[in-house]
Amino acid sequence: MGIIIKSDREIAVMRQAGRIVATILKALAKQVRPGMKTKELDAIAAKELERLGAKPSFKGYQGFPANLCVSVNDEIVHGIPGERVLREGDIISLDLGAIFNGFQGDAAITVGVGEISLPARQLLETTEGALNAGIAAAYPKAKLGDISAAIQNHAESRGYSVVREYTGHGIGQEMHEEPQIPNFGLPGTGPVLKKGMTLAIEPMVNAGDWHTRLSDNHWTVFTADGSLSAHFEHTIAITDGEPEVLTIA
Ligand code: MG
Repeated sequence: MGIIIKSDREIAVMRQAGRIVATILKALAKQVRPGMKTKELDAIAAKELERLGAKPSFKGYQGFPANLCVSVNDEIVHGIPGERVLREGDIISLDLGAIFNGFQGDAAITVGVGEISLPARQLLETTEGALNAGIAAAYPKAKLGDISAAIQNHAESRGYSVVREYTGHGIGQEMHEEPQIPNFGLPGTGPVLKKGMTLAIEPMVNAGDWHTRLSDNHWTVFTADGSLSAHFEHTIAITDGEPEVLTIA
């Protein structure tokens, strides 16, 4: 199939999908508080998606049961919202995908529940910084490996590890298109970036080592060593010049 190049018109629709995702994540971040059940966040996401005329990307995807992935503390990604009660000091990753007029937007943030520890705050800052470093490498004529390497260098130079078994991805009419975007790699390798490529870049950064463990529910991915993990994601478009972040409110 190869990497699908989007027209300006298609990217305009993806901008709308992206805005919906970003708007909802922002609203969710404001709602997060100690004592809340993670399923309450999923209910808000469902209601907001409907209000904004979008459909959830994740619900029903390979049987995933919710609109939103909610991953707490040592959960890396794909946490299923449910009865878990958030506690002061937890960190919580919120990953949301929306379909609007046939196109997808996908983004994730990690936020603190109430006051969080300094190490937790530094992990969040580093992971968001790694995402920004990856985006800053996403120029036409650069290579995909430049994005991967920028993410890896940002995280590892600060003493963290990047998850290797899960990657970013191309995105468009499908949530997962080519190419896969690893969060580690060598600069100057991989496909050349071209205007019209739309990519979901999503570093998952662990305070400990990068190995993962899959939960018995076959969805939730944990750090193997029980260390904290954070996740930030944006959907972006490669342009003639600066990369455009599509998942922005
Ligand atoms: Mg994604």
